[in-house]
Order: sequence, then structure tokens, then C-alpha cells
Amino acid sequence: VDVRLIRNFSIVAHVDHGKSTLADRLLEITGVIKPGAERAQVLDQLQVERERGITVKAVTASLNYVYNNEKYLLNLIDTPGHVDFSNEVVRSVSACQGVILLVDANEGVQAQTVAVHSLAKRNNLVIIPVLNKVDLPRANPENCKGQMKSLFNIDPETVLSISAKKGWGVKELLEAVITRIPAPTVDLKSPFMAHIIDTWHDRYRGVLCLAYIHSGRVEVGSAVRWSGESKQHVVKHLALLRPSEEPVDSAVAGQVVMVGCGPKGGGAVGSQLVSSDHPAATAGAGAPAVKHMVYAGVFPADQSQHPMLSDAIKKLGLNDSAVSIHPDSSPALGQGWRVGFLGLLHLDVFSQRLFQEYKAEAILTAPSVPYKIRVKGAKIIKQYKGEEVIITNPLQLPHPHHIEEYYEPFVIGTIITPVEYLGSVNTLCIDRRGAPLPSSAVDDRTTLLQYILPLSEVLVDFHDTLKSITSGFASFDYQDYGFHPSPLVRMDILLNGVLVEELTSIVHASRAEPTARRLTDKLKEMIPRQMVQVAIQAMVGGKVLSRETLKAYRKDVTAKLYGGDVTRRKKLLKQQSEGKKKMRSVANIKIPRNTFIDVLKR
Ligand code: GDP
Ligand code: MG
Repeated sequence: VDVRLIRNFSIVAHVDHGKSTLADRLLEITGVIKPGAERAQVLDQLQVERERGITVKAVTASLNYVYNNEKYLLNLIDTPGHVDFSNEVVRSVSACQGVILLVDANEGVQAQTVAVHSLAKRNNLVIIPVLNKVDLPRANPENCKGQMKSLFNIDPETVLSISAKKGWGVKELLEAVITRIPAPTVDLKSPFMAHIIDTWHDRYRGVLCLAYIHSGRVEVGSAVRWSGESKQHVVKHLALLRPSEEPVDSAVAGQVVMVGCGPKGGGAVGSQLVSSDHPAATAGAGAPAVKHMVYAGVFPADQSQHPMLSDAIKKLGLNDSAVSIHPDSSPALGQGWRVGFLGLLHLDVFSQRLFQEYKAEAILTAPSVPYKIRVKGAKIIKQYKGEEVIITNPLQLPHPHHIEEYYEPFVIGTIITPVEYLGSVNTLCIDRRGAPLPSSAVDDRTTLLQYILPLSEVLVDFHDTLKSITSGFASFDYQDYGFHPSPLVRMDILLNGVLVEELTSIVHASRAEPTARRLTDKLKEMIPRQMVQVAIQAMVGGKVLSRETLKAYRKDVTAKLYGGDVTRRKKLLKQQSEGKKKMRSVANIKIPRNTFIDVLKR
């Protein structure tokens, strides 16, 4: 392979702007799939992706293309668009020298376009600006070029126009990839070193990795090790993904290849594979650390399924490197895990994949953002080693006496909206405890707003609400803004005086009362009537903020007796009240599973 003929690039865009459709066209034009084949969106391989029409995993394809009598190797990396999966985007761009920045010519620049554009800029990637869907009658390429000029300072002359659906302009785009994006600058003489951008599990071959080779070359049979480890492995599998595997004997710096070192060979995203004689323990750039925005408990439906779920979670955790997994236990739900996610969609997709790909059914508890506290006199509370502690499970919160300061995570939200909705969008943001930053004009009808918002206010249904108050026209994206001091309280839910640990949450003090009312109302609705009356209480610091009563579903066992036999009647009533006691003692686990997730939605 001649490195000068390699191009590594990815397509980045706001969701639905046509990445997957364009990827299909590129696969056709390079002969990977037949034109017009029924296999729409070849790169969206996961069942969850097909069902939801979103791309979750970034998938790569190595394409051949002859240009000026030279045969180029084009490595396309399709990336997910949704904010929750932005770490997949970050990883894919780390192997690229350039990106196709795709913008729907009808919708124009959207919030996520802004986010992926700045990501590409930060990574010094060549940006090929492209307007898609120009076949649609309402497409307005000139206006979009103006938006790109004012927001990104992109020269309108350099913007290409295509229709990914019809295939218009796709050949020219491919040639722009070759002429505008540079070949990777690589070091062929140094020892082999690659970084892992993706991993997945193969039943027979163990862990397979997608690797970007920074230096040297590798062959089937090469002796390698993971940097930082001394154990040697042998490269057993080497292949190009087109996107189906095409085995190769060797690969060189600049290439993106699939590598496998056998069932015990290991491999994790962000780690580095080096030749066994490589001098450096660690070299080059690893993957950026993942920030978990949402935590939830994951438990088997019953404990006998624990081993199976454990296996499934381990395998899925390998493929989805964005999750963090720690063992956890709960009196009501038994042994399980505390899992960190990038967002609610990520959580949803994770549980759906557990079920679809591993046939494992799990109970998920109400999601929570991570909080931070500064502990007073840290030494007296032995379990906390440091002064500042991240709380990923509200139950871990120590008694308020021991807490000096509470912090909650904030984000900078970017919203692009038509001007006529500015009023309602601002109202929504302020209602969600947002603080405005300066706004700017996208064009004469569209504004870009920025707000500092608490993550907890954004997570649950901010996006849906924004869409509905703007008839779907506003778009939203957010980036991390770190922890900041905030008055927080712990809210407990009690059923007949018994704490439901899964429903404990941390809320902003100003939200305590309305949240308490909402939770008790909702629980009253969601918990089916029991044989006993159920008192539903929301408490903060020993004070009941709200109480609801769920009336008993009373089986009148004495109705048939006409009051005749008094002893018999007494006996029956006694049996019934014993039944009530039993019920009461298990009242807190008679809650339908979806309650744990649904109760926190607005
Ligand atoms: P992604 O979310 O960026 O991967 O977007 P998709 O490729 O899934 O496309 C979203 C929708 O836009 C699909 O219904 C496509 O058929 C449609 N679409 C994509 N490109 C074009 C195009 O050039 N013209 C038209 N009319 N529709 C397109
Ligand atoms: Mg897609």
C-alpha cells in the first residue's frame, strides 16, 4: 500500500441530514454494493439502528477508487449524529485527516452542525463543506452558504452541492476527498504502533479491534503487546472492512484495519497495540476520556438470570466503550450494576441492545446525573478518601451535616431557532434554570442561542419540549460545562413508611416541592391498587413534602355471609388482615418495572 494514496475521512452532520444515505452512495460508486440494491443504509448494521433510523456505532469501510490512473484507498468512517453518541464521533475523527461536513439544504445549519464543525476545527481536520438534498424543491443552497459563511467563515466557493439520494454530485465529492484531504503523515520506519478506535466481540475469534496504525507495519503472525503490559500476543486476524471483512496479510501506517489476537488477546478502545519490541510503554494519543452524564442501576429480572446478564453486559460493554460498569446491589432488586451513560438515548439503546443482541432482560432504575459534594472534615467519614466526592447514586449521599458544598453538572446548550420562536424558547430555558449567553444571527430569520443549563434539566425531556414549542424547527445540542455549586437536597420516596431505594433522587432545593408533588401523583397513577391502602410519601430531610394515598382494592370476603356466623366472619377478617401485612412488607417491590424510569419523566 502506498501511503500517499490513502485518505482517511468521515462524514459529520446533524441527525437526518443524510450521512448514511451518502455513505451508501459512496459504497455504490466504489463497487462495494450494486446501485439500487435493496440494502439501504448498509452501514447501519445493528437492529436498533434500523428500527430507530439512527446510527449508534461508527462503522468503517475501506473503499477503492481510481482517480488519474492511480488506485486510492479511501477509509470512510460513518459516525453517529446524536449528541449522546458524540464520543463515537470524537473517536472516529481521531483517525481522520478530513471530514465531509454535510448540511441539509432545506433545514440549513443546525445545532449539531455547529458542534461537529467545532470538533473538526479543534482536531485540525480539513473540512469539505457539502449541501445535501438539493433535489428537493424547497432547498435553498444560497442561504445555507450564507449561514456557513457567517457562522464558520466558510468560503461559499468551496461548498459542494449534492443529492445523496439521487447520486448527484457524489463523484465530484469523492474527488474532492482525494484532492482536498491530505494523505496521513505517518512514520513507516518506527516500530509498529496502532490505537484502537473500536472493539467488538466475535463468538469464535474473541475480541476484534478496529485499529488506526500510527507507525510501522504489522503482519499476520507479528508479535505484539498492549502498551503498558508485558504479555506478548500474536496477530491472528488482519482484515480491511469493506465493510465486510477482506483478509490481508499485512498493513502499514496510515491504514485503518481490523486486528484480532485470538480469544485471549484482549483489546480495549483507547488502548494502543505495539510491536513486542516497541521501546515506549505508552506512545501517541489515546482516546479522550468519556464523561458519563447519566447513571442508572441495571438488575436482572430475577437473580437466577444474574450470570447470563453479567455475561451480556460484559460483552456489550466491550462493544460500547462509552458505558462505565460497576457492581451494585439493592435490597429490592438484588445483585446488579451501576452503569454510567452518555445520555438517556444511550441508556435506552443500551437496554434495547442487551435484549435484542444478548436476549437479556434487565430492570433499569430511574436515571440520575452525577453530583459532586465537598465533605466537611473528610477524615471522619472513612468511606470518602478525598475532600470532593462524585455521587453517582443518590443513596450514597452522606447526611447533610457532613456536606459543606453541593455541586451539580452544567452544560452549555446551543439552540438554533427561527426568530418567531425566540420568546417561547427563552421562556423554556429560563424555566429550566438556564442563564443566557450572548446570541448571534445565523441569517435574517434564524438565531443561535446559547444558555448555561443544569444537565438534570436538559436530560429528561428538554429536547422534546423544544421541538414541540417550535413545531420541530429548533435544534439543540450541548457540551459539558463542568460542576458548579448548587443548593441540592436528597428526596426519598416511602411506601407505607418503607423507603424505596430505587426512587431516591437528588433535586434542586427550589424544585423540591413541585417535584415531591409530581412524584407522589405519578406514583399514585402508576402503582396498581393493592390489597392494602398505600401511603405514598415524598420526604426531604425528615419532612414530608407531599403525600398521596392509594386506596385499597378491598376484596369483601364477608359479603356472602349475611352477618350470620360471627366467629366465621371474624376469622375471615383476621386472615384478610394477615394478607394485608404480607402485602405491606413487599409493597415496595410490587411496583411495575417501567415505574423506575417513567416516574422521573415530566
Ligand atoms: P443520517 O441520520 O444523517 O444518517 O440521515 P439518513 O441518511 O438516514 O437520511 C435521513 C433521511 O433523509 C432519509 O429519509 C433519506 O432518505 C433522506 N435523504 C438523504 N439524502 C437525501 C437527498 O439527497 N435528497 C432527499 N430528497 N432525501 C434525502
Ligand atoms: Mg445514519
